[in-house]
Amino acid sequence: MSWKSGHGRVNSHSLEEDEIWYQFTMFFYKSKKTQTYKFGLLKALIENLYNADSRLQLTYEQIGYSFVKTYWNLVVRHGLKQGSQNSGVAAAVLRAREERQLPIDLSFDQLQAGDQVYVLECAKPIMKKYVFGALYSDFEGKLYGFDRRKQSQYFQFHPDSHLFLLKYQRLVTDLLNYHLAKMIEQYNPVIREFLLEKVESVAQRESLHPYREILLSRFENSCFYCGKSLHLSQKQTHVDHFIPWSFIQSDNIWNLVLSCKSCNLNKSDKLPDYNYLERILERNEYLKAEPVLLYEDRSLYNYRPEKLKLLYEYSEQNGFEERWSP
Ligand SMILES: [Zn+2]
Repeated sequence: MSWKSGHGRVNSHSLEEDEIWYQFTMFFYKSKKTQTYKFGLLKALIENLYNADSRLQLTYEQIGYSFVKTYWNLVVRHGLKQGSQNSGVAAAVLRAREERQLPIDLSFDQLQAGDQVYVLECAKPIMKKYVFGALYSDFEGKLYGFDRRKQSQYFQFHPDSHLFLLKYQRLVTDLLNYHLAKMIEQYNPVIREFLLEKVESVAQRESLHPYREILLSRFENSCFYCGKSLHLSQKQTHVDHFIPWSFIQSDNIWNLVLSCKSCNLNKSDKLPDYNYLERILERNEYLKAEPVLLYEDRSLYNYRPEKLKLLYEYSEQNGFEERWSP
């Protein structure tokens, strides 16, 4: 049942918390987003957690109101674009403001009830078509089900996800706001002083240069992945984080390998195929056996093969599902 057909039933299986966390991880880090609809819808769902009836159902009006409120405040009041251009709901909200000559410095709550209804009505057809089902496939019906056909219009929370959101509402909301802000930054050059990006990259090392020399001089003169021979040219020999940096967020020699430029660029933020795990575990035994290295790189003291195996396993839980090989 595709959401484009206008309805999608809520998944009937019960869900463990781990599974729901996994769905959210995949949503935040992997799901395709060309504008902020999905975040706006999740915000609207969270805002209405306490408004659901005894069957955990919500009306289209409840969700629509919350969604349009978010969009009005972001697009009109704060002047923030929601995609490479303001299309769809953002454009409809802007048009409604123009038609009614509404002041841009008011928040949605401060508008007259009649004006709120007008803005909502202008955006509704677009929300019905593009927004209300937008999270359905990402969560495989494990977050909500919906029906937008004329007779029976509703949203329905999955009971376990509803409980989960009640329990972790604050954490999920902060995550949601963070990802929404990251996306808005991308589309609004004015605020692109990148506070978020700065905060995120403070832990990142300027250069992995020293590692390249250590590894190249002692152990590795061929690409860890494809076997192509390497030499001490900065351009051609790259230092690669075996478990992606975006997950592990630190530079430890036991997680660094040398690779050719093409493998490094191609692998990018992906996890290497399982057989490379065996290979790096073996390589690390050589590293540990080198007394000078133990002295040079303190991270080797606390390195254990089991730790790397666990990290590899956890990276799956963290959304690194795809296995890469050259
Ligand atoms: Zn290579």
